[in-house]
Amino acid sequence: MIDALAADCRRHGATIRLGCVVSALAEEGGAVAVRCAGGDVHSCDRAILTVPLPLLREIALPGEARAKLAAADDIGFGNVIKILLRFARPWWRERKENLADMTFLLSDQAIPVWWTRYPDPRPVLTGWFGGPRTAELESLDPQGLVDAGLGSLAAVFGLPRDDITRELVAAAAINWAHDRFARGAYSWATPRTREAQAILARADGRVLFSGEALYRGRDMGTVEAALASGLETAERILQG
Ligand SMILES: Cc1cc2nc3c(=O)[nH]c(=O)nc-3n(C[C@H](O)[C@H](O)[C@H](O)COP(=O)(O)OP(=O)(O)OC[C@H]3O[C@@H](n4cnc5c(N)ncnc54)[C@H](O)[C@@H]3O)c2cc1C
Repeated sequence: MIDALAADCRRHGATIRLGCVVSALAEEGGAVAVRCAGGDVHSCDRAILTVPLPLLREIALPGEARAKLAAADDIGFGNVIKILLRFARPWWRERKENLADMTFLLSDQAIPVWWTRYPDPRPVLTGWFGGPRTAELESLDPQGLVDAGLGSLAAVFGLPRDDITRELVAAAAINWAHDRFARGAYSWATPRTREAQAILARADGRVLFSGEALYRGRDMGTVEAALASGLETAERILQG
């Protein structure tokens, strides 16, 4: 998801891969100037901006595109925390026999959702926590999130936390709100989102918006949605 490419720049029918952090787009002399944080400037006919919604306001935009941005307030955007724990052995199977084929585990603990790789035998548990309540864990760094995950598993299985920690081989945790190029996880539809998307998707200027949040089908917040939105934007440019 993170490869520091946000604006595809179309010049003379070709797409330029920018490979830089974009700080500003400006319309100059019938073209778009894409300014990168490192100082590079690329010029092109049209630019397609696909950064996640929270980052849209951090990029300076020409007046027409900026005016459309107010509509983005009517599109939902939420967070996800993900915790990956690899263990020496699948201790949860030994704990309860009927968990041998466990896929998902739902609980009311701080990290409420867990899944295994079943039927893949590798003893990995993935913890997932999404939505506004992830703000309660805002202050935790990756190690703090791993500790919260271990605490949740200990409570779910009624085991001393140290017993579970002893089995741990490797761990990683990501709070997507802390990722400077994401600032969260998925977009979602509010009752006003369809109208907002219609405004943002208009191809009436040189700077266009695209990406998962602009997808007008059912499942926003997916790779398929991002690809479909990108195709739609490309078609609009070709038609224009
Ligand atoms: C934890 C998690 C799990 C997910 N699992 C799934 C799944 O299983 N299936 C699924 O379909 N979808 C999943 N998604 C959703 C999916 O990743 C997104 O819907 C999809 O990546 C959105 O694509 P996009 O191109 O709109 O935006 P992104 O993929 O977010 O791409 C935006 C790009 O802009 C870059 N960028 C940001 N700011 C700048 C800047 N200033 N300058 C230059 N570049 C910048 C970013 O680095 C990024 O590369 C998941 C998302 C998360 C967070």
